Amino acid sequence: MLVLVLSDIHANLLALDAVLEDAPEFDAVWCLGDLVGYGPHPNECIERIRSLPDLLCLIGNHDQAVLGAIPISRFNPDAGAVVAWTRKTISEENNAFLQTLPSKISINNFTLAHGSPNQPVWEYILEPITADRNFDTMKTDYALVGHSHIPLIFHRLSEDAFAMPLGVHWNKRMQLIPRMILNPGSVGQPRDGDPRASYAILDVDEGRWEMRRAVYEIESVQRAILRAGLPDRQALRLAAGI
Ligand code: ZN
Repeated sequence: MLVLVLSDIHANLLALDAVLEDAPEFDAVWCLGDLVGYGPHPNECIERIRSLPDLLCLIGNHDQAVLGAIPISRFNPDAGAVVAWTRKTISEENNAFLQTLPSKISINNFTLAHGSPNQPVWEYILEPITADRNFDTMKTDYALVGHSHIPLIFHRLSEDAFAMPLGVHWNKRMQLIPRMILNPGSVGQPRDGDPRASYAILDVDEGRWEMRRAVYEIESVQRAILRAGLPDRQALRLAAGI
């Protein structure tokens, strides 16, 4: 089974469509949350995601904020402004869809969460020490997370070893070895200095993981952000990938 692994789409429809175009044929989609926030196409992105085959989709912190489950004050002013705009813009049906999303799923030896297995919505796994705390309690060999918008892989060779970050090799299939925490990066707002949409393909049967990038028309999304009256910074950062 080939799974398209997506995270942090953030209402960027052109980036999402570029990924769907770039990806090899897949059987299922695992989406790690934050469908909305930052970008100008919340309804279009939710509808596109809902149309995908065999979808497992988690809730992210921005999705929760749009639902009112997290106060806007927990976000920086720019991000909060987009949450407020998205609350007004989202359709009832798409709002209802977001309400159905779980914060954590375990499937086939993988734990899926937006932030981390320990704190599914809010924790960032950016450092080995945070990865270790999660390895300590993970009931599966692998976890897939998003939230940081940084493509990352942490590996713990044995239970008495420390977690180590592994290098990310683009367009290369990597064999998974127990135990790993993998972040496919962000579709709609990458922050690793590369503005291309980031995602991964997981071969569940063979245990292989491939990180990929897709080029999209950033200028069109920037224009749509400004047209919607959203903060300039959300447009500028897309070009820099930060
Ligand atoms: Zn995000």
